[in-house]
Amino acid sequence: MRLANLKNRAVLLTSDDQGLDIHEASGGKFGPNVADIYKNWSEFTAWASNVKEAGNISIDQAQLGAPSPEPEQIFAIGLNYQAHQKEAGYKVTTELPPVFTKWRSSLTGPNTEVTLPDRGNVDWECELVVIIGVGGRNIAPENAWQHVAGLTIGQDLSERKRQQFGQAPQYSLGKSFGGFAPIGPWLVTPDQFADPNSIKLGSDIDGMPQQNGTTKDMICPVPQLLEFLSKIIEFRPGDIIFTGTPAGVGMGQDPKRFLKPGENLRSWIEGIGEINTTFRAGKPAESGVPADN
Ligand code: ZN
Repeated sequence: MRLANLKNRAVLLTSDDQGLDIHEASGGKFGPNVADIYKNWSEFTAWASNVKEAGNISIDQAQLGAPSPEPEQIFAIGLNYQAHQKEAGYKVTTELPPVFTKWRSSLTGPNTEVTLPDRGNVDWECELVVIIGVGGRNIAPENAWQHVAGLTIGQDLSERKRQQFGQAPQYSLGKSFGGFAPIGPWLVTPDQFADPNSIKLGSDIDGMPQQNGTTKDMICPVPQLLEFLSKIIEFRPGDIIFTGTPAGVGMGQDPKRFLKPGENLRSWIEGIGEINTTFRAGKPAESGVPADN
């Protein structure tokens, strides 16, 4: 099952370009807002699995919003692939990964234009994004996928100077500029994947491949991430987890290579689709990092 956010109305996809307005099709039982769907996830999926109607509205991907537009919490996982640990200059390890947030005001849809905030140090990180359907604490890994509403594509856009500035670097700030968390184009439920723990993903810039990986290489796979995090925090329906990026980011290149105005960043995940972000120039030094850093 696939769920999209079309102008903040929840839409059940019947094909890549057709869908049903869930509020109308369910006689007012679910929706119309997308965020409300997650609050009744189990009842919703039971209803959705029996829908046989043909779609009657066109899906224009340019008009889609984030498939979970109002998460109470957004988690992001750092250094969850060994090849990315290596290219980023960190110790290669299988330790539990670092966790930060991308604040909700950075969340946006799948086809957006983002203003580059600084002097050219914005990097790309294509990531599998998990959307929580059933919340809770102390989730056992063998039950973890039952808590997942579905998967979508995310870009963990990262301003590297801000991210790494100061004696206690602030990942969350460097990754929360406006538009820095595009996700979409829609949620795909885990049952749609042959193996939800092994999914290919990647990104390219103006058609030039940059990242090409598989979630099979995650140091801490999705079930173990849910176990790890839920020992500390309580998941809520609609929460979002950026699960970390495979290798191929700009800071791993020699020389380092960052996003430029006018470029198009395409991020893709097998079985989901793609999202596209374009970039425009911003005012200099908006990141709050002194110019000599
Ligand atoms: Zn990331």
